[in-house]
Amino acid sequence: MARVDNINKAFEPEEAEARMYADWQEKGYFHAVPDPDKKPFCIVMPPPNITGQLHMGHALDNTLQDILTRYKRMQGFSALWLPGTDHAAIATEAKIVEAMKKEGISKDDIGREKFLERAWQWRDLYGSRIVEQLKRLGSSCDWQRERFTMDEGLSEAVTEVFIRYYNQGLIYRGERIINWCPQCLTSISDAEVEFEEQDGYFWHLKYLLADGSGELILATTRPETLLGDTAVAVHPDDERYAHLIGKTVILPLVGKEIPIIADTYVEKDFGTGVVKITPAHDPNDFEVGLRHNLPVVTVMTQDAHMNENAGIYAGLDRYEARKKIVADLTAQGLLVKTEPHKHNVGTCYRCKTTVEPRVSFQWFVRMKPLAEPAIAAVRNGETKFVPERFDKTYFNWMENIRDWCISRQLWWGHRIPAYYCQDCGEITVAVPAPESCMKCGSSHLKQDPDTLDTWFSSALWPFSTLGWPEKTDELAYWYPTTVLVTGYDIIFFWVARMIFSGLACMDETPFEHVLIHGIIRDAQGRKMSKSLGNGIDPLVLVDKYGADSLRFALVNGNAPGNDQRFQEEKIEAGRNFTNKIWNAMRFVLMNCEDDLSFEKVDRSRFTIEDKWILSRLNTVITEVTANLDRFEFGIAVAKIYSFLWEEYCDWYIEIAKARLYDKESSTRLEAQFILNDVLARAMQLLHPFMPFLTEEVYSYLVLDYRADSIMISEWPKPDASDEYPVQEQQMVLLMDAIRAIRNVRVNMGVVPSRKANIILVTDDLTVADMFVTGKGFLERLASVSGLEVRDNKDNIPSTAVAAVFGGGEIYIPLEDLIDIDKELDRLDKEMINLKRELERVEGKLSNEEFVGKAPEKVITSEREKQVRYQEMYKNILARIELLK
Ligand SMILES: [Zn+2]
Ligand SMILES: [Zn+2]
Repeated sequence: MARVDNINKAFEPEEAEARMYADWQEKGYFHAVPDPDKKPFCIVMPPPNITGQLHMGHALDNTLQDILTRYKRMQGFSALWLPGTDHAAIATEAKIVEAMKKEGISKDDIGREKFLERAWQWRDLYGSRIVEQLKRLGSSCDWQRERFTMDEGLSEAVTEVFIRYYNQGLIYRGERIINWCPQCLTSISDAEVEFEEQDGYFWHLKYLLADGSGELILATTRPETLLGDTAVAVHPDDERYAHLIGKTVILPLVGKEIPIIADTYVEKDFGTGVVKITPAHDPNDFEVGLRHNLPVVTVMTQDAHMNENAGIYAGLDRYEARKKIVADLTAQGLLVKTEPHKHNVGTCYRCKTTVEPRVSFQWFVRMKPLAEPAIAAVRNGETKFVPERFDKTYFNWMENIRDWCISRQLWWGHRIPAYYCQDCGEITVAVPAPESCMKCGSSHLKQDPDTLDTWFSSALWPFSTLGWPEKTDELAYWYPTTVLVTGYDIIFFWVARMIFSGLACMDETPFEHVLIHGIIRDAQGRKMSKSLGNGIDPLVLVDKYGADSLRFALVNGNAPGNDQRFQEEKIEAGRNFTNKIWNAMRFVLMNCEDDLSFEKVDRSRFTIEDKWILSRLNTVITEVTANLDRFEFGIAVAKIYSFLWEEYCDWYIEIAKARLYDKESSTRLEAQFILNDVLARAMQLLHPFMPFLTEEVYSYLVLDYRADSIMISEWPKPDASDEYPVQEQQMVLLMDAIRAIRNVRVNMGVVPSRKANIILVTDDLTVADMFVTGKGFLERLASVSGLEVRDNKDNIPSTAVAAVFGGGEIYIPLEDLIDIDKELDRLDKEMINLKRELERVEGKLSNEEFVGKAPEKVITSEREKQVRYQEMYKNILARIELLK
């Protein structure tokens, strides 16, 4: 039975992927251990949310990580790709609350404990869904080391950091104005606020001076907050108002007197130069209030309704209140004018509700002392962004950073380890829970009900997953990690916080490189989103085309940091590539005997094409390795693609056929050897990109060396004995000449069976020599019947057709390409037909009745025909002229 009889006609991804993935896992290839004989390489996976479903962003992110990990593993590194999931506090809690709502119950109905039970159940049910989906992509993560942000070890890391920061004065509790989501009912950090431009108004209001001496005009975009105004402010240098500072105005609708204060926060030249100050509902006003000791009057509830301080407006939703207040101001003659105005409004990144600044007691991380070393670490290159331009985004954020509000009014998350004495008010921060108050000894202690921002735990991910705060071998071996791969949208949320946390806890930045990738847009360049319904489910693509084709499509054309458009044609190209390789393998094996052995291969028998393909492979190995080291995945895969498709399949196989088919050929064995060896090494280069196909092809090839699996085989190195620069150059010239001849033939419509003589004109002896040696190629690949070499153009018939290539000129006698008499005959007939058609069209177009009645479309079409026929007619005439 021949070798190929057992091999499928086409690669069947569905069956092959499941079989191989299970096999790799079973053999423990994904598992890495600290190995002093190897160099460490480590990527921590950006932990997907347990609420998540695999989307194209994950598919890209994880494909890139898998490429790097597989590449480094083959290079002999102890390569760890550490996976895990994130509890995603706010997102998960929202899902559970939503599900409970359908049952008609709320969080308060069942209480904290029962709620958390549900949350854990939910996590057990759905938390591994995304992990299973990641496996479908071929991700070679060390699943034995999978972590979860709320598992025991990581929770310990969280409380350890909280207590450390607290004891170092880096965490404090304070009454501050924070971003509040009236829908999620929790505070959210600055990074979680998304800004969108909305249409709004400037309402110009009149505040009367209390002493009756006049009025101040000011503008606001939020008139409902005036109920909480506790001052109006002007700039201290503003001469227009200098005499009013210290006086009071009557707050409209409320009727109470509030002071006119001076503060440099006010912009003199903006509007009238007067602003209202509402410390409870605006972050800037809050700061002004602190400076001037103004009272803080909150006029809204947590769900953005007006509260008891709002008087007759109490109970109204903030937007209803706005309408009513504007109406009442108009009625009282206090509304001067209304002016349309576009402004940026902060919305909650989770639910898109307009965020309400709110004053409350929250926990904060003091950012300045943490940000400074983190800025320095990127400035001095300890961590490098790829592409470099993203360090600007990072610096900009870190240099302007405000304290990080880390407490959340949620139950699903790490609970803040702070205990309040019910007797003396002392706060104790400790783990485990203290039994009595450190100050007064009272045992009436109550734990803070809040939990920590979900990013507080993911900020520790690069070291908590390796075992910190324990001093583990893993931590010593793999920290700092090598590369972090992530999208630019979470540089603030996550990358920046990991960098300062790593420096604070480990004294070292958490990774050498941050590889930033863009987002995947739809074919029209739009962001994929639920609301547009233009998202593509990567798993559907895997089912349809296979994981390798999807991975190929994601990486092909990808450049770090750039967004890309996704078109189904891209993945079809991946599938075609798979087929091309599969067919090449089958062809090679069809021409290899069952008992084939390469023991007797003799390098001195290598032909010019053997040397060329080996030399080319050497170059490709060198270049692809360099590209991968620079994270240029798109360029690397394009080089492998064109090497395999064009050089190996379209040229080398075609040229080698003659030797394969001739069982007596003295170099047949060498051709068989090179076909197998070059394809195997190219499969190794391609393995990180297309792991399944390459494993399968590698396993079938005839090799006298072979690892148990391609994924643990050694990454190819260029081989000095495969360097053949001269032969490489010669082959390039020959190929160029063949292409030129083929072009001429195609343009003239010559059938391949018609052979032609060629005349090579060159004064370069090496080129002439090479053609004589390569005559066999020319015969087979360019339908050449005879070759004549000349050093000048004299006496070459003027009708001969020229084909220009890198090494000179080739002339082909016209009569070799076409039968001139027959061709003239054919052209004559064609001309007669064309003339008849042309007359018909012209007749129609000169017929007034036709032109008057026929629809516009028909007339246009006839006019186009006329132009086309005239053009064709001219071409035929020219052709006849030439032949005569
Ligand atoms: Zn929200
Ligand atoms: Zn106490």
